[in-house]
Amino acid sequence: MVSINGNPIDDVLDYRFYMTDRQLQIELLRQNVPYIVKVHKGEYDDLGLEFDTYLMDKQQNCKNKCIFCFVDQTPKGMRESLYFKDDDARLSFLFGNYITLTNLEDRDIQRIIRMRISPINISVHTTNPQLRVEMMKNPRAASSLRYIQMLTEGGIKVNTQLVLCPGINDGEELSRSLRDLGALGENLQSIACVPVGLTDYREGLYPLRTYTAPEAAAVIDTIDAFADEVQKERGVRVAYPSDEFFLLAGRPIPPVEYYGEFDQLDNGVGLMAQLEQEFTSACSLCDPCPLTRKVSIATGVLAYPLLCKLAGKAQELFPGLTVEVHRIVNDYFGHNITVAGLITGTDLMAQLKGKDLGEALLIPNVMLRHEQDMFLDDVTLEEAQAALGTPIQVVENDGFSVLSAMTGQEI
Ligand code: SF4
Repeated sequence: MVSINGNPIDDVLDYRFYMTDRQLQIELLRQNVPYIVKVHKGEYDDLGLEFDTYLMDKQQNCKNKCIFCFVDQTPKGMRESLYFKDDDARLSFLFGNYITLTNLEDRDIQRIIRMRISPINISVHTTNPQLRVEMMKNPRAASSLRYIQMLTEGGIKVNTQLVLCPGINDGEELSRSLRDLGALGENLQSIACVPVGLTDYREGLYPLRTYTAPEAAAVIDTIDAFADEVQKERGVRVAYPSDEFFLLAGRPIPPVEYYGEFDQLDNGVGLMAQLEQEFTSACSLCDPCPLTRKVSIATGVLAYPLLCKLAGKAQELFPGLTVEVHRIVNDYFGHNITVAGLITGTDLMAQLKGKDLGEALLIPNVMLRHEQDMFLDDVTLEEAQAALGTPIQVVENDGFSVLSAMTGQEI
């Protein structure tokens, strides 16, 4: 495909943008022979074309060397795709990936604005230009900060994330980043603050450490002080600590009202509050009744207390139901990694082998790769089931699905 209505088609964004017209003149090239195809269609009709790759183009990789990069701390020998560092604005639009803006030019930003590709998810980390360069080890990390303002002034909504490293971009630096981002106005949709994730595989990498409880609490307080102010003006908090910060600080997860539109669920912001609320709603739809059933749940250290609470509620509602929650410690990456999404099949099998898991072992779908057939370490679902001698049921991360899976009943 060369062009649509005279507009060159370089990638899937051009294609999607220009094919919305009702009358299309499409220039195609087959074995160097040009063809013109005319199409009359409805405004929202798709042309039904599929391309070799979803971008119709090579995926752009990242040009940074962030001091906290998770890819750099991934143990050797895992599947190749886990070592690919993408930083592609098109993936931000298509799949919500976060981008750093460091490999973009002014014309790329203008194209995003022209095509109204919104929202864009941006890894900011700090708005201090010099510090951003030091953290991302890329001189362009400073100048590319101005693109955030260009985008918001151009009418593009942005979600931002700050990966916080103790003593580096928290404290006063965090306050400055929040202030600068807050000044972007209404098109700044959200700011997620997540603690740096450290595996046991950091040999030769920048020396970083995890948050202590008082430090995590100080981060929450800094964000909350800013968010309280914004809430007075805009009615939403805008800036949120991730669920992990509350766990690190030993504080309870806030209620759902705290999270506004839940713009940052993919960053682990508000996931637990939402799950609990959905689960409570699901329970309210059920009449208490006895049930003879035993199931197990596997989860990470982070969500373990919440799932125990949900299991307790379900057992109260359905006498005779037994739900055992198993806390899987991440031996594969290291014990600082607490999220369920990074639990491997190896750890699951090693820690649950020989246990009576009941009728089924429930695992959250985030434990498996996108195709839902394999764990991160390439252990297949079948292999794990065979090793544990129990059917594994993959459960969507919503409260209704969790209660349905616990009870074996459609809710
Ligand atoms: S942007 Fe930074 S954290 Fe992301 S992949 Fe590149 S080096 Fe790693």
